[in-house]
Amino acid sequence: MVRQWVTGDCWLGCQSTGVPVLWLGPLQWDGQYAPLYSCEPCLDRLMAQAVAYWLNRRPMTTATAA
Ligand SMILES: [Zn+2]
Repeated sequence: MVRQWVTGDCWLGCQSTGVPVLWLGPLQWDGQYAPLYSCEPCLDRLMAQAVAYWLNRRPMTTATAA
């Protein structure tokens, strides 16, 4: 998967504007779609949470440090 960084606004609460952001996917709400973009610090925070989630879902016998 090629990650395409563009200059834009972060959608994840840090209120950064005009920064490099990465498209994460469509945000769907009440039948409407919006592009969800994340800046690098927010992406790091999000991915740390996602990795913790993935590790918690994985059986203990196969869990490995990332
Ligand atoms: Zn951000």
